[in-house]
Amino acid sequence: MIYDIIEKVYKLEKQGKRIIKLNVGEPDWLAEPSVIDAATQALRAGKARYSSAAGEQELREAIAKYHSCEAKNVVITPGCKFGIYALLALSLKPGDNAVAFAPYWTAYNLMCKQLGCQLKRVNLDLQKNFAPDFDALEAAIDSRTRVVIMNSPNNPTSKAWSEADEKRVIDFCREKGVLVLADDAYRDLCFTPRGDRPLGEGVVIATTFSKAFGMTGWRVGSMLAGEETIKKIVAFNQMTVTNVPVFLQIGALKALEMKAEIEAKARALSKKRAGIAARILRGKLAYAEPDAGFYVFPELPAGIKGDGVAFANALVDEAGIAIVPGAAFGDYSRFFRLSLAGDDASLESALRKIVELAERAERAH
Ligand code: PMP
Repeated sequence: MIYDIIEKVYKLEKQGKRIIKLNVGEPDWLAEPSVIDAATQALRAGKARYSSAAGEQELREAIAKYHSCEAKNVVITPGCKFGIYALLALSLKPGDNAVAFAPYWTAYNLMCKQLGCQLKRVNLDLQKNFAPDFDALEAAIDSRTRVVIMNSPNNPTSKAWSEADEKRVIDFCREKGVLVLADDAYRDLCFTPRGDRPLGEGVVIATTFSKAFGMTGWRVGSMLAGEETIKKIVAFNQMTVTNVPVFLQIGALKALEMKAEIEAKARALSKKRAGIAARILRGKLAYAEPDAGFYVFPELPAGIKGDGVAFANALVDEAGIAIVPGAAFGDYSRFFRLSLAGDDASLESALRKIVELAERAERAH
């Protein structure tokens, strides 16, 4: 049903219709020109051979510095998606489970299913600003739980938990002997900069060049963990993807040299767009104010009978706007995710149309 909408969007575009895509989970900015130069120069220089499955030493070292650890604690993966899959595959045997706070990124669930494991949900409430629920976490963890996934800031809500809450989740899981996977894909887009998470005992960190750096298609990410876990992920790389292309890692290294500057730009743009969303949605639809780039996750007004899928279909058909229905993120069928990517004018007109359609649908019932 969710993928039906994506297929519908492709079909309409093929027919020449203009669709404003608020469904895409990627920024509309690209890598900095000097980053592209570094990669292309490396490619021309022949940096295009098989290489270390751990990643280029210089890049591992540079990433490690930001997380107060060493190169031996870092492995480069083709996007952190692959790193997360590797970690889950290495941590979960069939019949084991992982726990994730919901709403959550769809891929966690699909990965667990693929591994013959269950992803248990700790459902969080809009009314509580999607803050972690520790009683529900305690109830979800059982003797077969191997990993708790923490994604703060979160896809799809863009809520970042307080640092105290993040610490409490980590301490709680450490006490229970369960690993925490901190999926920090959006951490560098926090409106109030947090700095990178230091690597700690019992925690594995996933980071990526995809989001703030605008490098989604480069497929460069990293996993940070204890040395033994890193060795296992390196072996996983070795038997599957071998290595992330070296010239792309050289580009990523250049991006890291410009980290502060790139992040500041990405943060400012994301903040501006969240401001546009607030101006149009506030008081019209219920949603939690985002703490980071670049999503919002509103709830359908109670007066609307249909669910997020019906609303998404109506939006594509009637207004040429694509969104993702909330069911993609767990038990949130009355919600929908909007990505605030795209130019300001398109974003503004799309958000106004969404509010208009929601109000019209409410009046019709
Ligand atoms: N984590 C979350 C929460 C995401 O939304 C995404 C991408 N949509 C990723 C991880 C993976 O990013 P990548 O593989 O591009 O590094």
